[in-house]
Amino acid sequence: MNVLVINAGSSSLKYQLMNPETGDVSAKGLCERIYIDGRLTHKVGDKKVVKDIPMPTHSEAIEAVLQILVDPENGVIKSVDEIDAVGHRVLHGGMEFSDSCIINDEVIKAIEKCIPLGPLHNPANLMGIRACQAVMPNTPQVAVFDTAFHMTMPPKAYRYAIPTEYYKNDDIRRYGFHGTSHKYIARRAAELMGTKNFKMVNCHLGNGSSLSAVKDGKCQDTSMGLSPLAGVPMGTRSGDIDACVVQFICNKYGMSVDDCLTMLNKKSGVLALSGVSSDFRDLSAGAESGNEDCKLALEKFYYEVAKYVGAYTAALNGIDMLTFTAGVGENDADARAAICSYLSFMGVKIDPEKNKARGQEVKISTEDSTVQVWVIPTNEELMIAQDTAELVNAAKK
Ligand code: ADP
Repeated sequence: MNVLVINAGSSSLKYQLMNPETGDVSAKGLCERIYIDGRLTHKVGDKKVVKDIPMPTHSEAIEAVLQILVDPENGVIKSVDEIDAVGHRVLHGGMEFSDSCIINDEVIKAIEKCIPLGPLHNPANLMGIRACQAVMPNTPQVAVFDTAFHMTMPPKAYRYAIPTEYYKNDDIRRYGFHGTSHKYIARRAAELMGTKNFKMVNCHLGNGSSLSAVKDGKCQDTSMGLSPLAGVPMGTRSGDIDACVVQFICNKYGMSVDDCLTMLNKKSGVLALSGVSSDFRDLSAGAESGNEDCKLALEKFYYEVAKYVGAYTAALNGIDMLTFTAGVGENDADARAAICSYLSFMGVKIDPEKNKARGQEVKISTEDSTVQVWVIPTNEELMIAQDTAELVNAAKK
């Protein structure tokens, strides 16, 4: 089976053509500068082609993707009919979606209803869906929501302690994000444990970071909130912050709330603390050469991640497994060691040799550690392709 996985942003569109059973990616790429001029970067194995193609809308971007996929020189399929289904990443499923689903008119209306919750991403995701529907009307399309995995959280985790009317009238609550990644890791963790019945905390640490508390395969709590701004400090996001900081800054500097939120999303986090970079590799290099601000940024990040692990361990009344994933979680041994050093009180012990692993699945805890600690590379595209295949195959029966 061939599933085309689409992740549409406001001016970009990422794609992968993959086999959901084997995880093999036959081609992948990126359309950039949609609405501006348009550039397609297409990769098959190690071969990369870059083409400037006019993309006045997402439709032309999808058309360019389909064209290059069937191109005799750079393509990997003979005809678009060889694409069995399309899986779309959709950022915000609000309270409407607790699972992936086959896209029909009702689903489109429900995704539209979630636009106020995901004002930047949902309109772009919808453009990707509509563009695919227009150019491949007979191919089934599936929506996979970044929030869906977290919909099993109990009210004590998802409700904010603010007047109920905002929840009842406006759906203001914790949703959480990176759900596709947390779901993929929870599934893989269950395979590694040989059972679904265990408790774990997953640390998705990348440019954006979030943690999830998972019991018996179901999410119980997660660190991001109504938006991806909440939780631990990130590359450029502040993470949790006292709302009065917004009031103070807006009042003192005559800044609008929107501008202040842009500052908290794009100019904060480890970028702000270090004054150097949002990239953890630059921060490590800076810290090694004695830059105190880089050291502080890293210390703050490790400290806040460890605090969340501690909080979620209490929330679950103990954990059996701790997992690290995404760019930093998979590659940064120093980050894993620093975070785990806070957790020695609960019997977490990692083996420094095993912890040297980068980008590969490996158990890094010692045999006498009370908690199994693993590095598990995430694969959101594969999760999207698998959900898509599952739904499309079930609909055929
Ligand atoms: P995104 O949230 O954009 O998906 P990723 O999960 O790809 O982010 O993570 C990107 C981050 O991972 C980069 O900002 C970089 O700081 C970090 N990273 C990647 N490789 C390494 C490495 N070898 N050591 C430390 N950090 C790394």
